[in-house]
Amino acid sequence: MNTNVTVLEINGTALEHNLHYFKKKLAPETKILAVVKAFGYGSDGVQVAKFLEDKVAYFAVAYTQEGIALRDAGVKTPILVLHPQIPNLKAIISYRLEPNLYNFKIFNAFLKLADEAPLMNYPVHIKFNTGLNRLGFWHTDVPKILSSLKETSHIKVASLFSHLAASEDPEEQEFTTNQIHNFAYIVKQFYSHLSYEPMLHILNTSGVINYPKAQFDMVRIGIGLYGFGNDETETAALKNTHNLTSIISQIHLIEPGETVGYNRAFVAKKASKTATIPIGHADGLSRKLGNNKGYVLINNKKAKIIGNVCMDMIMVDVTLIDCQEGDAVVIFNSQEMIQHISNASETIPYETLTAISARVQKKLKRE
Ligand SMILES: *Cc1c(COP(=O)(O)O)cnc(C)c1O
Repeated sequence: MNTNVTVLEINGTALEHNLHYFKKKLAPETKILAVVKAFGYGSDGVQVAKFLEDKVAYFAVAYTQEGIALRDAGVKTPILVLHPQIPNLKAIISYRLEPNLYNFKIFNAFLKLADEAPLMNYPVHIKFNTGLNRLGFWHTDVPKILSSLKETSHIKVASLFSHLAASEDPEEQEFTTNQIHNFAYIVKQFYSHLSYEPMLHILNTSGVINYPKAQFDMVRIGIGLYGFGNDETETAALKNTHNLTSIISQIHLIEPGETVGYNRAFVAKKASKTATIPIGHADGLSRKLGNNKGYVLINNKKAKIIGNVCMDMIMVDVTLIDCQEGDAVVIFNSQEMIQHISNASETIPYETLTAISARVQKKLKRE
């Protein structure tokens, strides 16, 4: 049992609210794939997947090991592994994970294993690069993929998909629409040459918000489930899922001229009261939040982080706050606070959330 006092509470009710919010934007038959990679965006991928397993059609993780963790926890839902590696393909099969095959190297390696086993109609997903230039086959690869598929009954394409490069950016609408058109053109060739119709999907969270017409058969929702849309209005309609709290370990009363923390970065100008909190950069709080850039809430009042963020602790100014050792501290409990931390640490909520480290205890609250 982890008895550290810094806890990330994952709000199940909020997760469900957010899932429902996206469902309402979609046609009733459109499937939802919940993206639970990176420990469920810094929460707990296993607890989130167990909570959502009867509510979504699919899960996606980035790496094989993340998928294995879900299977070990008893998750039976189909799991797409977005970024498998050739050495992991055997494990993919033994855990019945579904690989994204994104080039001929991994496609042929998987086909070879499927032939040797032999597997029957093993579900695979084929990804096309339509402009992100990250992972995916090119449209010119289609004839060769089709001829390999026609010769085998050992694998079966569960889905064809692609990923948008700038779905959140209204200035990139033309580029995005082009990606969607290119994808539609590629999948048409599959539909006219295969005896079955794989599912199609291209939208992530902001894709669903901005291009709902391109929802095809399924959408892949990550950050939206965890409370962030692509603008303030969308985010306000979602509920915050990540609540990070801690406590005050110690309070110090210091004299003018005294300093706080490493490098003596904070110098007291007047008599001050400081509180030490057991969370630091090793827990995922950026050092950029030090020296008054970040704050926490203590008894509903803002307490600025003074001096440098240490590995395991921060010190905050509580001179004007009525508080005691042992009092609760909110690191963040709203999208506004997560956004503030992201701005102050020069990043985006995706990174602020996924930075929360393994050392922080994670608890999913169902009600
Ligand atoms: C991470 C990821 C998603 C989820 O994106 P969000 O913006 O978090 O909704 C969807 N598809 C792919 C391929 C991804 O890598």
